[in-house]
Amino acid sequence: MKCVICNREDCENGYCELHRKAYESIVKKYEVWKKVLEISWKEYLSEIIKNPLTGEWAKEVAVYLIESGEK
Ligand SMILES: [Zn+2]
Repeated sequence: MKCVICNREDCENGYCELHRKAYESIVKKYEVWKKVLEISWKEYLSEIIKNPLTGEWAKEVAVYLIESGEK
């Protein structure tokens, strides 16, 4: 199985190690944001993409999640 984002071979559940870590931190951060802000998953993902401080890995994951329409 390949990573859905970078096509690397060594991956579990659709993501390689780096993208899975980025995905997990995105999900974790969303839990925090949700408590403070009224923000939807999609809005949150666009904020991640717009944020210049977001790492490349996380950005790629966010773009993928928006495009795939995952909730
Ligand atoms: Zn990857």
